[in-house]
Amino acid sequence: MSPMANDADVIVVGAGPAGSTTAYYLAAAGLDVLLLEKAAFPRDKVCGDGLTPRAARQLARIGVDTSGPGWIRNKGLRVIGGGMRLEMPWPDLASYPGYGLVRTRFDFDQLLAEHAAAAGARLQERTQVTGPVVDERSGRLTGVATQPLDDSGRAAGPPGTYRAPLVVAADGVSSRLATAMGVRKREDRPVGVAVRTYFTTPRHTDEWMESWLELWDGPHLLPGYGWIFATGNGTSNVGLGVLDTSKTPHRVDYRRMLRRWTAQTPEHWGFTEENQVGPIRSAALPMAFNRQPHYLRGLLLVGDAGGMVNPFNGEGIDYAMEAANLAASMIADAFALRTDSDREAVLQRYPATLKQEHGGYFTLGRIFVKLISEQRIMKLCTRHGLPHPSLMRFVLKLLANLTDRRGGDVYDRLINALTRLAPAA
Ligand SMILES: Cc1cc2nc3c(=O)[nH]c(=O)nc-3n(C[C@H](O)[C@H](O)[C@H](O)COP(=O)(O)OP(=O)(O)OC[C@H]3O[C@@H](n4cnc5c(N)ncnc54)[C@H](O)[C@@H]3O)c2cc1C
Repeated sequence: MSPMANDADVIVVGAGPAGSTTAYYLAAAGLDVLLLEKAAFPRDKVCGDGLTPRAARQLARIGVDTSGPGWIRNKGLRVIGGGMRLEMPWPDLASYPGYGLVRTRFDFDQLLAEHAAAAGARLQERTQVTGPVVDERSGRLTGVATQPLDDSGRAAGPPGTYRAPLVVAADGVSSRLATAMGVRKREDRPVGVAVRTYFTTPRHTDEWMESWLELWDGPHLLPGYGWIFATGNGTSNVGLGVLDTSKTPHRVDYRRMLRRWTAQTPEHWGFTEENQVGPIRSAALPMAFNRQPHYLRGLLLVGDAGGMVNPFNGEGIDYAMEAANLAASMIADAFALRTDSDREAVLQRYPATLKQEHGGYFTLGRIFVKLISEQRIMKLCTRHGLPHPSLMRFVLKLLANLTDRRGGDVYDRLINALTRLAPAA
């Protein structure tokens, strides 16, 4: 990994939460980081914009101040289903803050990218990575080929090449870079589909993140939930996410389903076409490590590129940021070593360390996905779970992955034990 003739120590491809957080940690560790992003900020990203206390902790760790304007804090989850309406505060834990956040991805991603740049990362927008540059003899990645773009995404200027001994693929769910390096999707992992839009609404300062458990497609109860997340800026992010399972009887039109659902909500919420801000947009949710291995021949995968969305609740920002922290610290460790083989040994441990951290929990999530894909089990859960607030408090901890690893209450200990027992596949 000689720095000779390299343009950077590490190239990070994609400045979403995964890429910007990786770049931040690498720059903070004193490495020369080039962060390449095809879009120009600010840019929209299809998302629910919801940040649980897990994600709030990650933001605090990198020193992002979430107390000022543009941020809205919430105190827990309001669940609606089975004729019930239950408000559950975020659990009181030693390891996590007692609040969640909402901030639209329109400026959240820009803020993170600028935070990385302020720490020393060289952010280069309007630069599309078009493929890997590979050393023919070793098969190892030595850089990336790029195409400069203009603001509307059209080619602007001649293609280029950047060289670095390590590259991080943080280029999102389709990760062309990982695919080009031969890292394939795992078909045995769940994938979700989610759609969302915004409505101008008096509900825009709601102090609870709201989720609706009953999504009906005609007579079929679908495995997923609808959400209403107040952004504090006059709008709420309204959407739904459904597991894409073969059990679904036919192709579901999710946009229509969102329209049908919002049409049934109370008139004063204002979820009408006139109040809709922007189109209904959709994207996939790659879950439970659906692209592996997470390290291969000089390329590390972080975030959606490595399929790191939580299968229990569809949360991806936190897991992208956690993996970014881990990847960056292992890269920094590798750079501190003297020989190529020592450095390689550290990097090779990234996939196993990642699995140690989340593998057991994601395995439980895959079991959960299988269960709720059965309509009768989904019905059973919504009808008989919600009337039991203490059971639901356990469910909230499990679904949002919010436990104290040491100490904690009986629910924490049960969830931690299950997570440890489940294979970290
Ligand atoms: C409808 C919906 C709702 C969701 N709601 C939530 C939620 O409420 N909370 C939550 O935590 N998660 C949510 N998620 C998941 C979350 O959006 C993702 O997990 C998260 O964005 C992953 O971050 P990332 O940085 O890995 O990828 P991305 O955010 O996709 O970022 C990838 C970046 O790479 C850039 N890029 C791609 N290709 C190239 C290239 N070739 N060259 C240069 N740059 C490139 C892209 O422009 C982009 O900026 C939701 C997802 C969907 C679809």
